[in-house]
Amino acid sequence: MANGFVATARRRLFLSDRAASHPVTTHIAFSDLRTAAYCPRKLYYQRTRDDHDREPPVTVDEIRALATQYDELLATPVDELATEPIARPPGTYRDRLAATRRRLETHDQWVRLCNPVDRDVLVTGRECRGVVHKVLSDPIEPAIVSPGKPPDQGVWEPQSVHAVAAAKALAWEHEMPVERAWVEYPAHGVIRWIDLTTRRKAAYRRTLRTVRELDGPPPRIDNRSKCESCTFAKKCGVRTRTLRSLLGFG
Ligand code: SF4
Repeated sequence: MANGFVATARRRLFLSDRAASHPVTTHIAFSDLRTAAYCPRKLYYQRTRDDHDREPPVTVDEIRALATQYDELLATPVDELATEPIARPPGTYRDRLAATRRRLETHDQWVRLCNPVDRDVLVTGRECRGVVHKVLSDPIEPAIVSPGKPPDQGVWEPQSVHAVAAAKALAWEHEMPVERAWVEYPAHGVIRWIDLTTRRKAAYRRTLRTVRELDGPPPRIDNRSKCESCTFAKKCGVRTRTLRSLLGFG
C-alpha cells in the first residue's frame, strides 16, 4: 500500500510537470464547463465582468464539508444536527441520509465513498482541469460535491457535464478508463452515480466546443426558469418573476 502511495506521489509530480509544460490556457476549467452547460451566455458574462471572482463563498465550503462526515452526521443527535448547514429539517435529513447509506451499502459503495483515496485534488486532463472533490479507488472514480439541491431523479445536466469532465481528466492522469462518476448533494443527504454513457459524453463534447468557441455573447436560452436564479438576469435583459413583480407585473 505504501509503495502505491509513493508511486502515486511520483506520478502526480510527473503529471504536474507535464501540466506545467503545457500552457494552462489550453485547458478548460471544470467550472466554466459547468456554467456553459447551464447557459453559455452566463459564462460570457462571468468571463467579462470586472469583479470576476472564482472563489466559492464560505457557505459552499461548509456544505461540502458535510460530505466528509456522513457517519458522524448519522450519529449526531437530531437537535444538534440543526446547527449544521443542512437544507432539510434535521429528522428528515437523518432519515434521508440513512436511506442513502442503506442503498449504497447494498451496492458495497458506502465505505469507499466515505473513505476516498484523495480529496480536493487538482486534476489535469487532456482538455479540462479542475478540482475533484473525492477520488475513489478500485476502480478510480471521481465524486463531485454539489452545495445545491438534487433533481427528483439523476443529476442536473451541468453537473453531468462536470462529472464527465472530472472522469475524463482522471482517466487521462491514471491512463485507464473511468466509466462512472458520483455527484453528492450533502445538504440534502443524497448521493447519486452516473454512468459515462454515449449521450453524456456527447453533451460534454458539445459543451467543450461551446466554451472554446465563445468569443461574443451567445443568444439567451429559452428555459426561463434558469434565468430566475441567474445573477446576470438584469444585465441580460431577461425579465424574471422577481423583476416583473418589482415592476408591478407580477
Ligand atoms: S438571464 Fe438567462 S439567458 Fe441571461 S445569462 Fe442568465 S441564464 Fe442565461
